[in-house]
Amino acid sequence: MAHTLPLGPVVVIGASAAGMAAAVAARRVDPKREVILLERMPYYAFASCGLPEVIKGNLPDITPLVHRNPQELGEKLGITVLLQQEARRINHGRRKLQVRNLLLDSEYELDYSALVLATGARPAPPGRTGYFTLRYPHELDKLLGQLRDNSCRRVNVSGGGVLGLTLVDALLSLGKEVHLYTRDTLLASFPPEISLLLVKLLEEHQVELHLQEQAPPGNREELTLLAHGVEPHLPAGLRLGRDWDQGIPIDRSCRTEVEGIFACGDCARPRYAGRRAGAGGAATANRQGKVAGANAAGGKERYNGVFAVLLEIAGLEVGRAGFTLAQLKQERQPVASVSGNFRLLPPWLGASDLFMRLDYRPASGEILAFHAIGVRGVGSRINQVAGWIQADVTLSRLHNLEQAYHPRYSAVTDPLVALLARTGKGVK
Ligand SMILES: Cc1cc2nc3c(=O)[nH]c(=O)nc-3n(C[C@H](O)[C@H](O)[C@H](O)COP(=O)(O)OP(=O)(O)OC[C@H]3O[C@@H](n4cnc5c(N)ncnc54)[C@H](O)[C@@H]3O)c2cc1C
Repeated sequence: MAHTLPLGPVVVIGASAAGMAAAVAARRVDPKREVILLERMPYYAFASCGLPEVIKGNLPDITPLVHRNPQELGEKLGITVLLQQEARRINHGRRKLQVRNLLLDSEYELDYSALVLATGARPAPPGRTGYFTLRYPHELDKLLGQLRDNSCRRVNVSGGGVLGLTLVDALLSLGKEVHLYTRDTLLASFPPEISLLLVKLLEEHQVELHLQEQAPPGNREELTLLAHGVEPHLPAGLRLGRDWDQGIPIDRSCRTEVEGIFACGDCARPRYAGRRAGAGGAATANRQGKVAGANAAGGKERYNGVFAVLLEIAGLEVGRAGFTLAQLKQERQPVASVSGNFRLLPPWLGASDLFMRLDYRPASGEILAFHAIGVRGVGSRINQVAGWIQADVTLSRLHNLEQAYHPRYSAVTDPLVALLARTGKGVK
């Protein structure tokens, strides 16, 4: 009688958004397969997006944002979580991973049959003196220590992108002088109308803007927080490809060029392009993790994401679904765009406008990008358009669109419907 050897474990490196999703998906696809999740921190499944809430004082500390008991996951899902274990070197010929036990200060080897890299990203260049970074929950304690010290009267944020603005939003509540440094303008990958609105908004909130200027290093009275220049977190021993230091190239199955090795989340770089590239954020990490983990355990999943982003700054919501402005400029086929200010609510509920812009291919009616900014109502519309892009809904199918109406949510004709009407009926 022929015997087949059981397959070796799926090992996932990194237990945050991408790695957690990968481990759970691997177990789901092959419940008999051992799944080992390695994490160098003393906690796992952390929510970085909750860190600004601690700065604002909406959460007392990082406790609700992290998990510290790995047995929970073992009991619930059969996944082995090993904390304070750092993956150091891959020996793929022997299918062995060298791991450093940070608790015992010792090293050992782990067998694997498939490997998922979910090591995330870190600010670049790391370890600069005089600068704070905020990527991991444990970094917050030191940062809060200085922020809560009365002698610290000024905070400099370096980076006018999504993370920089998210941090400025959190810092506004502290009553300190806030300075924002950026080498370009605010949200440079968004339409200029949105960047200009944000400049005005921040000036109204007494944020000192330093466009095209570099932030100075901090001192006791002045704290500088880096929120730009992210690079994949990948020590040399985990880099199997020549260009992996730029991000690990993956295909739509989240496979790398090395058979049996998968990657997902902030450490990965899609080899495919287009409006479905997916390019960052926790939702992309989670979705790519599910694909990578399932395929590492023998599944056949494909990543079909849409890059959508949403943030809140000084009471305004801002978001995008689809292409960035730079990607739109590289389009070879003609691109048309409609934009404008639209009333969100009926006039008798007060003035509240949404600025929106939709970019599309007039020849095919394909939606390429959607941007919006307003006091509220942005998130639901960003997700609606992201869904259309993902489902390949062209503009011709959206003529005569009817939406539910309640005066607290929209005018009778939803602003998105009004924007679509501007594309004209001739559009396919
Ligand atoms: C302040 C802040 C706010 C944010 N807000 C939002 C938001 O509102 N919406 C949004 O979509 N995104 C947000 N993000 C971004 C989001 O948190 C990241 O995109 C997401 O965490 C990426 O997940 P990841 O699993 O790929 O990487 P990470 O979350 O970076 O996790 C990687 C994990 O791998 C571990 N690791 C690394 N190297 C090794 C090794 N050699 N061995 C073992 N373990 C290792 C790390 O310790 C870490 O736990 C925010 C980020 C920050 C910092």
